[in-house]
Amino acid sequence: AKALGRNRHEFFSEVLQAEVINTKRVADEILKALDTDAFVTYYQPQFCAQTLDLVSVEALVRWQHPEQGIKAPDSFMAVAEELNVVAQIDSAVLTQTLADLARWDKLGLNVPRASVNVSLRRLHDEGLIESLKALDIPAGRLAFELVESIYLDENDGVVAWNIDHIKELGIDVEIDDFGTGYASIVSLQKLHPRRLKIDRQLILPILKEPAQRQLVASIVDIGKSMDIEIVAEGVETMEHAVILRDLGCDILQGYAFAKPMSRDALENFLRQNAWA
Ligand code: C2E
Ligand code: CA
Ligand code: CA
Ligand code: CA
Repeated sequence: AKALGRNRHEFFSEVLQAEVINTKRVADEILKALDTDAFVTYYQPQFCAQTLDLVSVEALVRWQHPEQGIKAPDSFMAVAEELNVVAQIDSAVLTQTLADLARWDKLGLNVPRASVNVSLRRLHDEGLIESLKALDIPAGRLAFELVESIYLDENDGVVAWNIDHIKELGIDVEIDDFGTGYASIVSLQKLHPRRLKIDRQLILPILKEPAQRQLVASIVDIGKSMDIEIVAEGVETMEHAVILRDLGCDILQGYAFAKPMSRDALENFLRQNAWA
């Protein structure tokens, strides 16, 4: 039994060691990916719940890995966070998104707006507004999706100042993943976001659970009373879409309509669907 115990111990320490080595390898690869522009921007369309017109696209980062192909953020963002390079990734996504908006304008493809995910850490950056000013952002065409835990930081002077100035630059503020954390009605009043996005965890069960439907209805009511538009994400079926429209959601995003796709795929999608 003693020998077995030692072997087990050795086995687990080998597993742990392998994990550490793997994390280290991913870390090295991420740093290299930043240097070689291997992070690419995918876009997922958002539609008006009433007319089904395309109203915006959400930019979602992907890693074009040399051996493993396209990798989703869940597989690398935690390591990127540890490396403190999420802000750099966000910045690359923003630059690409602005370039693509200009490109679509030139091509005559109608993409009214795009949103990018902005990590909390970036909102603590005192140089954020200056760096945004250098980017020539078209007013009303860009939104920042901020996770709702932003409210925990709202009393931080730098964060509050940044949010005010983001709005002054003509960038819409949206609260992301609404309903999964701690955002309160008070924080909504303080932040005055243009939109809030109800997280897909709350959206998925609405077909089967009336209580979940009621919850979404309540969020819609609160939003309406504050003049905040409501976006539903994770809309996986047309049945969901119909219910969400009837509940008063303004904008719908999800696999029922379109998955996140490369720029080229989005351009084909726009042409095929004659939204252009
Ligand atoms: P999120 O901001 O909540 O983005 C929505 C996620 O839901 C995306 O996953 C999207 O592909 C997925 N999704 C969309 N429609 C559906 C649907 O109908 N059903 C289901 N099951 N899922 C759907 P993705 O692209 O893997 O991104 C995961 C998360 O990574 C994002 O969650 C966001 O928090 C983060 N992320 C993505 N891109 C960036 C970025 O450029 N910067 C930062 N800081 N975070 C990012
Ligand atoms: Ca988002
Ligand atoms: Ca979400
Ligand atoms: Ca999120």
